[in-house]
Amino acid sequence: MTKYVYSFKEGNKDMKNLLGGKGANLAEMTSIGLPVPRGFTVTTEACNKYYDDSEQISEEVKEQIFTYLNDLELETNKKMGDKTNPLLVSVRSGARASMPGMMDTVLNLGLNDEVASGFAIATNNKRFAYDSYRRFIQMFADVVKGYPKSSFERLLDSIKEEKNVKYDTDLTEDDMYEVAFKFKEIYKNISGVDFPQDPKIQLVEAITAVFRSWNNERANIYRKMNDIPSIWGTAVNVQEMVYGNRGNDCGTGVAFTRNPATGENKLYGEYLINAQGEDVVAGIRTPQPISTLENEMPEVFNEFNKIAHILENHYKDMQDMEFTIEKGKLFMLQTRNGKRTAQAALKIAVDLVNEKMITENEALLKVEPKQLDQLLHPNFDVEALNNAKIIATGLAASPGAGTGKIYFNAEDISEAKNRGEKTLLVRLETSPEDIQGMSDANGILTIRGGMTSHAAVVARGMGRCCVSGCGELKIDETNKTITTKDGQVFKEGDYMSIDGSTGYVYGSEIKTVEPEISGDFQIFMSWADNVKKLKIRTNADTPKDAIQARKFGAEGIGLCRTEHMFFEENRIFEFRKMISAETVEQRILALENILPYQRKDFEDLFRAMEGYPVVIRYLDPPLHEFLPHTDEEIKPLALSLGVSFDSLKERIESLKEFNPMMGHRGCRLAITYPEIAVMQTRAVIEAAINVNKEGLNVTPEIMIPLVGDVKELEYIKKIVCQTADEIIKNNQIEMKYEIGTMIEIPRAAITADKIAKVAEFFSFGTNDLTQMTYGFSRDDAGKFLNDYYSKKIFESDPFAKIDQEGVGELIKMAAEKGRSIRPNMSLGICGEHGGEPSSVEFCHNIGLNYVSCSPFRVPLARLAAAQAVIKQK
Ligand code: ADP
Ligand code: MG
Ligand code: MG
Repeated sequence: MTKYVYSFKEGNKDMKNLLGGKGANLAEMTSIGLPVPRGFTVTTEACNKYYDDSEQISEEVKEQIFTYLNDLELETNKKMGDKTNPLLVSVRSGARASMPGMMDTVLNLGLNDEVASGFAIATNNKRFAYDSYRRFIQMFADVVKGYPKSSFERLLDSIKEEKNVKYDTDLTEDDMYEVAFKFKEIYKNISGVDFPQDPKIQLVEAITAVFRSWNNERANIYRKMNDIPSIWGTAVNVQEMVYGNRGNDCGTGVAFTRNPATGENKLYGEYLINAQGEDVVAGIRTPQPISTLENEMPEVFNEFNKIAHILENHYKDMQDMEFTIEKGKLFMLQTRNGKRTAQAALKIAVDLVNEKMITENEALLKVEPKQLDQLLHPNFDVEALNNAKIIATGLAASPGAGTGKIYFNAEDISEAKNRGEKTLLVRLETSPEDIQGMSDANGILTIRGGMTSHAAVVARGMGRCCVSGCGELKIDETNKTITTKDGQVFKEGDYMSIDGSTGYVYGSEIKTVEPEISGDFQIFMSWADNVKKLKIRTNADTPKDAIQARKFGAEGIGLCRTEHMFFEENRIFEFRKMISAETVEQRILALENILPYQRKDFEDLFRAMEGYPVVIRYLDPPLHEFLPHTDEEIKPLALSLGVSFDSLKERIESLKEFNPMMGHRGCRLAITYPEIAVMQTRAVIEAAINVNKEGLNVTPEIMIPLVGDVKELEYIKKIVCQTADEIIKNNQIEMKYEIGTMIEIPRAAITADKIAKVAEFFSFGTNDLTQMTYGFSRDDAGKFLNDYYSKKIFESDPFAKIDQEGVGELIKMAAEKGRSIRPNMSLGICGEHGGEPSSVEFCHNIGLNYVSCSPFRVPLARLAAAQAVIKQK
């Protein structure tokens, strides 16, 4: 018999896969003797079984749940449904990886009319009993039934208005009683049946709802963004309730052992007196900073502080904790490794090493490579910032500089992003439905909500800058305006800027500047460099990109795409002359005019790379991309070529292709027009000679793209060598150069041993290789891949993350075949995958020499490469 349920006393922190993160840590805290309300966890396997059993909880699982419920009743000496001493529970979701706010929790389960009235008498606290009941009804309606929260919220607001009070806590016991029964009425109106009174039915329905929530839309989006596989499932925790809403010696809160925005080593958090559950995050009242607790309830604070240290030492990482105080007694409800900004992640990792709590290698595993991206985003230009006017101040919830046009809802943001605009999302407060828009925005500004509000937590997780709780601004979400204290109005589409490190809001666009690597970042990256085996190169076509990449630690250029050099204004005309030319002489003449430009480009690039290796790829894209399209462009070209307009137009027409990506491109161009390869070789070799005279020692690496048959490469290599050797000879010098190829056509991978006889190095062009292995176009696949994700055929985009089973197997095979002929040949990948952590790990594991990625991904790749080594051990 499979065990589907575990008591908190049976589990531990290493059982996350089975018990989910929350369940495993509740068990761990129980076992180290911390005050945790008792309970049990229904496993992730039960969740998967639920889906296998066509979304039903089987009798087998139910039976185990009720056995554990029975034990819980005995242990707590309370009984579900008992009128004077009822066991009430929370039903809490908890997946392997934390997905804050993505799934659902129900509190106070077990209440019904009878229990509530008995509980009111037994506790001598009618207000508390009915406050709990109305919360339960609303959460059950929302989470379990999916009824809109708004009807309940509206009613509560109207009763508060009627009684002329501001906060829920100002309502009297009779008011709460009224609210609870009106909530029941609303429930009945929506559902057509009475609110369920049987606690066991309530429980089964709530557990079912948590399983179901694993598959709700926002959870799916979150999983996709964070690479969480859908087969993991969620566990469900059923836990005895403790009550923070029982009076003024009660409360609830959240806290981090260190500051999650800056990493500062100081307890950080907030709490609310006389409140329950989500009240703190939902922004119902403004919470108190945790430091206030020290004065309000010194004993509780001291105990909490002590526990925070115990937990941090135990987990050896910054903890994010949830707690509740009931009648002066502290209970721990959750702990986990806290989400943090990249800046905080680095500081904490470096501090923990300095505090001798962890080793450098352990520290390297504590920062997610993807997160580093946050640190590479622009900051405000200091001077521009000084001249900008601060219009309001909110909480510095997630650092970074955000500037853009303001929009008031998530959809508008996504649309504006698609139009190419920079945007700021401005909301009263965000909710989980906004997740896509939050990701698309350059920054997030909320009017309500604290440092642990939804906006703040999610923004920090995503690395989006965020200013939250900016109550000085008045927002009108319907009419899409923001009004400042002194009456200035901002409309949709107006520019604003926010600084997530200071909380300042500015009423204009502000110039931003590029970041650099220093301080903790630099120390941390040097640890990564000590460990990693892969070299990290960059894809760069211009000296500017090359210099940027060097600053980020690139150890060479893995891919310089020469076509970009042809697209510049004064060159494209010559280039068009070259391809439209009807005679070789005309073509050579045009190429002669391009040569000096190209040679200078390469010189600049070599200089920027200061002797690090540079791989230059010869012309690759389909010719049609260069062709003129309008008559205005064709006319001067015809004139200059001395042909008629009509005949040129015809020639251009004849060059068009049905399927250009599989057309006349790559090495096929040089086979038709060897003059191009000759010119490019002259440019490369002459440039290298020139810079070597300046004291550099460049060995150019020439890369021929899109080879499928070794004979293609043989043909072109001969031309390249002839040209190069002649130049070298004429200069009476010695200079080495290498000729290699891209492996990006499956046939090339399959025949890699033959190709390696001619090619001196391989670079895997994983974009094309993926496209051709799957047989779908990378430009069009986006249109239907979403169906693949939603139907669970693909978990992720194979153009973003290497398909290790298929494409990866080809790479592995080609690498082995290549090395069987040329044991020391250099192997690398270029293409988007070179900057994706799991793909970098894969490249390390199969023994490649380097990955090459865009400049801004270089630090990420350095870290991923170091982590790959540590994980392999
Ligand atoms: P999330 O994963 O969204 O944080 P949780 O399951 O942690 O959801 O529940 C949210 C909040 O509900 C907790 O932080 C806590 O304040 C409250 N809560 C959960 N279980 C209990 C309980 N047994 N007693 C009191 N409060 C609880
Ligand atoms: Mg929740
Ligand atoms: Mg929680």
